[in-house]
Amino acid sequence: MNQTEFGPLLVAYDDVAGAAQRILGHARRTPVLTSATVDERTGAQVFFKCENFQRMGAFKFRGAYNALSLLSPDEKRRGVLAYSSGNHAQAVALAGRMLGVKPVIVMPLDAPPVKIEATRGYGAEVVLYDKHKVDREAFARELAESRGLAVIPPFDHPHVVAGQGTAAKELIEEAGGLDYLLVCCGGGGLLSGCAIAAHALSPGCKTIGVEPALGDDATRSFRTRTLQSCHNPETIADGARTHSMGKVTFPLVMRYVSDMLTVDDTELLRTMFWLWERMKIVVEPTGALAAAALLEGKLAAKGARVGVIISGGNVDLRWAAQQLR
Ligand SMILES: *Cc1c(COP(=O)(O)O)cnc(C)c1O
Repeated sequence: MNQTEFGPLLVAYDDVAGAAQRILGHARRTPVLTSATVDERTGAQVFFKCENFQRMGAFKFRGAYNALSLLSPDEKRRGVLAYSSGNHAQAVALAGRMLGVKPVIVMPLDAPPVKIEATRGYGAEVVLYDKHKVDREAFARELAESRGLAVIPPFDHPHVVAGQGTAAKELIEEAGGLDYLLVCCGGGGLLSGCAIAAHALSPGCKTIGVEPALGDDATRSFRTRTLQSCHNPETIADGARTHSMGKVTFPLVMRYVSDMLTVDDTELLRTMFWLWERMKIVVEPTGALAAAALLEGKLAAKGARVGVIISGGNVDLRWAAQQLR
């Protein structure tokens, strides 16, 4: 095992390549879009990997499908548990249905009814808990133990990270070598997986993580070289409100990521609307982080070949329209 001062490196490029085989024909190979307007505005050659077109609307399906595929026959028979009210819940629910593994999703009682319904719609059993009375993780752990379910974490698991890395693998296979790869960061699953793939397939490519300014724990961790956390940041980028990176992702980010950038919520909204209007794609706030770093001029990209991961498109358009001013 490859030990570092930050912890062991638990994922290697072979794991990403293996995940690519497993998801083949099950996950969508999402399109890579280019835009003459973006190239003109940035002076770079830009390739957008559009995971808003992935199954269930976000890259999370890749990691969930890979992790569920790698369970033992016995674990598959007993079922899996995920706790999330976001894209990870729907990813585990859908992957479970496709692989014949029963998914149980733990969500707060006050989760948006549309999300609860969507998750049930994928065939999952939704178990609700009162977040003012019980601790989510303790509640989920007890339920998993009592029913013998395997817990599938949203980012801090080697099989999840390897699955997420397939997005960058496909992007580089299609676009060719890159100078920069911009990837949003919550708990760092997508970022670390993509950085591993870029390191192997496009040596010299600098992978840069992008976080919301209000939830900049990974950026602070990167700079101080010690794991930092954030408590319930109030950013509109709900997919990046994670408490901190984890034992699996932190060492990988320190090893394979070249830099971290932040964007504020105003820049994020501006980018969301710009992608909507100019590129005709619907992107959720977290999904627009990487594009915002580029379009808001946080990276000197002139003359460079730049990959940008658009991570997801699950946004309530009524909410989005209310933000238009
Ligand atoms: C989960 C999620 C993220 C953050 O991914 P991590 O692997 O936790 O860093 C970013 N964008 C979208 C759309 C997500 O669903």
